[in-house]
Amino acid sequence: MIIDGHVHIARLQTTKNEKRTPVTPEKLIKKMDEEGIDKAIVLPIVSPETGFFPSTCQEVLKASKKYPDRLIPFCNLDPRAAGNKPDTDFSWVLEEYKEAGCKGVGEITANLYIDDPRVKNLFYYCSKLKLPVLFHLATKVGGVYGLADSIHLPRLEKVLQEFPEVIFIGHAMAFWSEISAKVDEKTRGGYPKGPVKEGGRVPELLKKYPNLYGDLSAGSGYNAISRDPHYGYKFLEEFQDKLLFGTDICFIEQELPQVKFFKEGLKKGKISKQTYKKITCENIKKLLGI
Ligand SMILES: [Zn+2]
Repeated sequence: MIIDGHVHIARLQTTKNEKRTPVTPEKLIKKMDEEGIDKAIVLPIVSPETGFFPSTCQEVLKASKKYPDRLIPFCNLDPRAAGNKPDTDFSWVLEEYKEAGCKGVGEITANLYIDDPRVKNLFYYCSKLKLPVLFHLATKVGGVYGLADSIHLPRLEKVLQEFPEVIFIGHAMAFWSEISAKVDEKTRGGYPKGPVKEGGRVPELLKKYPNLYGDLSAGSGYNAISRDPHYGYKFLEEFQDKLLFGTDICFIEQELPQVKFFKEGLKKGKISKQTYKKITCENIKKLLGI
């Protein structure tokens, strides 16, 4: 059984001529069938930084009701919602979503510092309601989307300490470039190539904080484990309890090299059977209680 920890039902077209077929629930199921993905976590996207067409919690819930054996819903909230204040009460909204079946909150794409009081307010309510949080990490505030942190992730570490009850699932380039100790301002927002230098902040934080997990989806997660295969396979074995398989399906034409990487890795004996099972299925089941 393969559970994809990160997909979208969305129209993520950002320019007029971009050829990206929107992901409808039906097209998503078809793509999952083609790729051999049994179930998927569907993440709404609600912050305006991300695109023109939000992917609402209501749409995601509706799709998950239609395909209850295939789709698992998350809900989402912009930390600035309903007043742009650090003390907005999010409990009742999150309770409503939780009762409707949502298993977590994300993908958080608001472009605020990850330790901004408004973001911490959202984390506080996630802690109260025991909802895991999946976040897109960005390098800066302005010109991008995603929660922002500086190089070497000092703000993320503060947040991990401040909210030990919250399960944080890290995603995107600014997170995964820190798999290596050699990271610089020029490439940390992209897909740095070449050998991984031991001692990166991501492995350090994964080791130190039981509440941090890594989302291997998208070009960022895939690049992190494939840029230096020797290190990549070692990393998967070492952190087999802290990593989640995912693709980040955003449009129908999208290639999903992650699926092949894991299936071939298992077949060729580069990934142990136990690690494969944990990362592609068991870890997320345990985290979400599904
Ligand atoms: Zn995504």
